[in-house]
Amino acid sequence: MTKIRADMMTGTPKTIKQIKQDIQKIANDDTVNGSVPLFWLSDWLLHVIDKPAIFLITDENYQLTEDELSRFNVGLHKMQHGTPLAYLTGQQAFWSLDFKVNEHTLIPRPDTEVLVEQTLNWIKSQPSSDGQKRLLDLGTGSGCIAVSLAYELQQESMSKTAERWQVVAVDLSAEALKVAEYNAAINGVADIHFIQSSWYDGLAVEEPSFDVIVSNPPYIDESDEHLARLTAEPISALSAPNHGLADIEYIVQQAPSYLHAGGLLVIEHGFAQGIAVRQVLTESGFTEVRTVKDFGGNDRVTLGHNRLGQN
Ligand code: GLN
Repeated sequence: MTKIRADMMTGTPKTIKQIKQDIQKIANDDTVNGSVPLFWLSDWLLHVIDKPAIFLITDENYQLTEDELSRFNVGLHKMQHGTPLAYLTGQQAFWSLDFKVNEHTLIPRPDTEVLVEQTLNWIKSQPSSDGQKRLLDLGTGSGCIAVSLAYELQQESMSKTAERWQVVAVDLSAEALKVAEYNAAINGVADIHFIQSSWYDGLAVEEPSFDVIVSNPPYIDESDEHLARLTAEPISALSAPNHGLADIEYIVQQAPSYLHAGGLLVIEHGFAQGIAVRQVLTESGFTEVRTVKDFGGNDRVTLGHNRLGQN
């Protein structure tokens, strides 16, 4: 391996063909310092040369400029030392939209699309009504959930009636909120109200004014070895005390004070937390509590309805 990297660092001119061979070796080599998935390497190459994927097949003899090669090598080095591709490119696709990300935000995961999908399914299944509806996203991070939902809710198909959705998105981190606001802007979503807040604390009034509350809170156990591989992302977005359940418990227990009777709560959680999260919802007065699996077949999202007549 040291040979591959030494070669790459010397800045000797390289063609796409040669780099493809190099990255193939790096992706296959177990001894490489922190193995890097092949698609990260090829996506990074495409990002640096600013070309579509087909270029790697049609233009194998293209020789990278000195600047391109050196930028490619710097990124390669960072990925080999734990920086995720999304932090190098500064972007991540989610729900067919593009999101800017940086070290202040969690990188959107495909699993979280299940939360978006479930929330939309529920909204579509409700009898349409005129007037204002409200949705709250707690711990919005990059804004991927709030922006995707707001984007869908403003589409033609979702607005057959005079029903209008206002999305409120909160995060403790002012830096994350800047990213989320930017993501709302680039995706053409105007209707999101961003608030800097620790969970519900910054909401104007404690009253049941939301129809839907969604959250992908930190839920990894503080002693989980999985965390060691997630060093680049903000720990406050990933990990929570009490076996990873502390923030979920708080969010669920407070939710009835902010949700209309019959309103929906949707929480993302760890693959082994389904039973515990269902129990917290049930104990907090939620009904029709159920867990939905992610694309990998693991428990990932739990939903429930705020008890009718409670508020
Ligand atoms: N699903 C993420 C992971 O396990 C964690 C996301 C979160 O803590 N909210 O990598």
